[in-house]
Amino acid sequence: MPVTNSTSIHRSEHSISRNDISENALKVLYRLHKSGHKAYLVGGGVRDLLLGLKPKDFDIATDATPEQVKKLFRNCRLVGRRFRLAHILFGRDIIEVATLRGHHSDEETEKNTSSQSQEGMLLRDNVYGSIEEDAERRDFTVNALYYDIADFSLRDFCHGLDDLECRRIELIGDPETRYREDPVRMLRAVRFAVKLQMEISERTKAPITKLAPLLKDIPPARLFEESLKLMLSGQGLATYKMLQQYQLLQQLYPVSFVNGDDPKSEALIHAALANTDERIKADKRVTPAFLYAAILWYPVEQKTQEILTESGLPFNDAFLMAMNEVLDFQVKSVAIPKRFTSTMRDIWVLQTRMSKRYGKHAYRIFHHPKFRAAYDFLQLRADNEGGELVELFEWWTDFQEQDEDGKRSMVAKLSKPATKKRRYYKKKPRPTSS
Ligand code: ATP
Ligand code: MG
Repeated sequence: MPVTNSTSIHRSEHSISRNDISENALKVLYRLHKSGHKAYLVGGGVRDLLLGLKPKDFDIATDATPEQVKKLFRNCRLVGRRFRLAHILFGRDIIEVATLRGHHSDEETEKNTSSQSQEGMLLRDNVYGSIEEDAERRDFTVNALYYDIADFSLRDFCHGLDDLECRRIELIGDPETRYREDPVRMLRAVRFAVKLQMEISERTKAPITKLAPLLKDIPPARLFEESLKLMLSGQGLATYKMLQQYQLLQQLYPVSFVNGDDPKSEALIHAALANTDERIKADKRVTPAFLYAAILWYPVEQKTQEILTESGLPFNDAFLMAMNEVLDFQVKSVAIPKRFTSTMRDIWVLQTRMSKRYGKHAYRIFHHPKFRAAYDFLQLRADNEGGELVELFEWWTDFQEQDEDGKRSMVAKLSKPATKKRRYYKKKPRPTSS
């Protein structure tokens, strides 16, 4: 799609009002402007205000370099190598200020400012340019609208307003080139389509499935950040389904696809996502650990069975080994940080412990710091599988409601396990001659 001349929309002819822009974003815009720089509100902030939505954050574009921005704001931190940005900090609120980006022409291509991989991926994007060039470097037309603080006009270089009107997600420029430059744009297309209830245009959707494997080249830490935006948007389930439709999902969670589509696993993941969506709507706390625990639960179960069959190890050892293997494999594509994998392990291990309630076990499980998450997870499994899990879930529901005497009597009613606990001693490895 060719990029045409700018349309400048007078302040009286668009709906963006300074009342809807955060005080901090306005402060940054005004200070840049007063210092003789161009300053625009751009990206999701403009897009969402035009759609009548509440923006998640406000992004600003300026012709000041990051170093110049830093000089203007005491509370400024420069971040990012691939894409250098200034963050202006107001307590917990961060206003992102990006310098207008230009094209990567050959003469300009110096190692320090821009670089590209063999697959066409932009490894660095720090060539500065004009507002027109900046617009063409953005991802979707609806994300390339600029609100100019100098005269409160709106600048539209890529038919973003038309596409907002038609509710169309349209990539700027040649889709295949733009996805190769940054494969994360494929995930963003899906995220915006669901969030804004828009259609991805034919030309923008056409290359996605073919190019999905390019996500393998994205650093796993960046994919983790993206996965949070995808799953914790309040529309996680719809997003998940669309990612699946474009075959983007297996790039994020290859492990759950090792054995093909498992309806039982899919149902559990769907239920976890629906549950998370509801909690977000009700303003309740959510943790990605719970979702990831659901996504990887059946792969862990399956791996445990494989290890049991192959090695004859006791169940607990096989289960620990399976958790390690599944997580090691997963973090190669999406780097789930330790603070979440440790909660996932707790949720999983507690699943196996919750059926062993006799004696002091019930109390130990009940007082475990992750009991609540594990109990919610048990409910998800019980709803999914029925049978004994339902009884177990009901038992734990009752147990929590009982006073001390009630709890004691519930535990006393349980029969001890019939079999004697089998002890397992690890054989010492035989010394090898070296
Ligand atoms: P939201 O903040 O609601 O998730 P957003 O559109 O503001 O949506 P950000 O990630 O905050 O998304 O990015 C701000 C803007 O920067 C985008 O609107 C877009 O113009 C540009 N942008 C972000 N990521 C990319 C990318 N990968 N390629 C090109 N432009 C991008
Ligand atoms: Mg934003």
